[in-house]
Amino acid sequence: AGTLYVVATPIGNLEDISARALRVLSEVALIAAEDTRHSARLMQHFGIATPLAACHEHNERDEGSRFIKRLLAGEDVALISDAGTPLISDPGYHLVRHCRAAGIRVVPVPGACALIAALCAAGLPSDRFIFEGFLPAKQTARRARLEELKLEPRTLIFYEAPHRILDSLEDMSAVFGSDRPALLGRELTKTFETLKGLPLGALHAWVASDDNQQRGECVVTVGGWQAPDSDAAVDANAQRVLNLLLGELP
Ligand code: SAM
Repeated sequence: AGTLYVVATPIGNLEDISARALRVLSEVALIAAEDTRHSARLMQHFGIATPLAACHEHNERDEGSRFIKRLLAGEDVALISDAGTPLISDPGYHLVRHCRAAGIRVVPVPGACALIAALCAAGLPSDRFIFEGFLPAKQTARRARLEELKLEPRTLIFYEAPHRILDSLEDMSAVFGSDRPALLGRELTKTFETLKGLPLGALHAWVASDDNQQRGECVVTVGGWQAPDSDAAVDANAQRVLNLLLGELP
């Protein structure tokens, strides 16, 4: 059988594609892409003539998909998404799962990923973190999700759409507290890249006061919950358990 290469593409700056990614994309028989028109422009830019085929939710879920057939027939296929690393808030999971189940070799070709780009410049603890992807679009569900994360001690990373960034920051500030440290990474690697680190309340106010900050793609990183009395680790744990129990009470 052939190999499925999971290839990261840039999240903005085209220089972020790796030499290995370019070689793999030009050598495979077929590129499975989220949006073939979008990826065609990228391939054209790099002078890559490999045929593209759409890989989306329903054909990706099909374990007898054309991609699996061609892989089983011995051809190599590369999987890409519109930006960054496939499978990270992007399609690809089902295809990778089917390949592994069918004994097809899956090889990652790592590169740009917005959550890692934001985290490595955030100045928040990076030894342990959790990626929450996109929050629910509706406020009730979003607040409920944030409530679940309120006592999470690890650094939190969220993706957000520009038209919801203000609402999300408002909810984060309300649930986590306005003084929780945070950083907004917007248009990372692009011309108008912004990295703004402020406590959640001030960050919300800053974004609210400038329409430009409500455009483009963004990642929000938030410092984890810290015990008010941080020299008493035991107290912190007791508080965490107590808070969880209180949350269960009617
Ligand atoms: N697979 C991508 C990755 O590896 O980061 C993520 C795809 S997801 C559909 C798109 C979201 O990623 C955006 O809404 C935004 O939250 C984040 N994102 C992607 N590119 C970004 C950039 N250049 N700057 C900030 N956030 C970005």
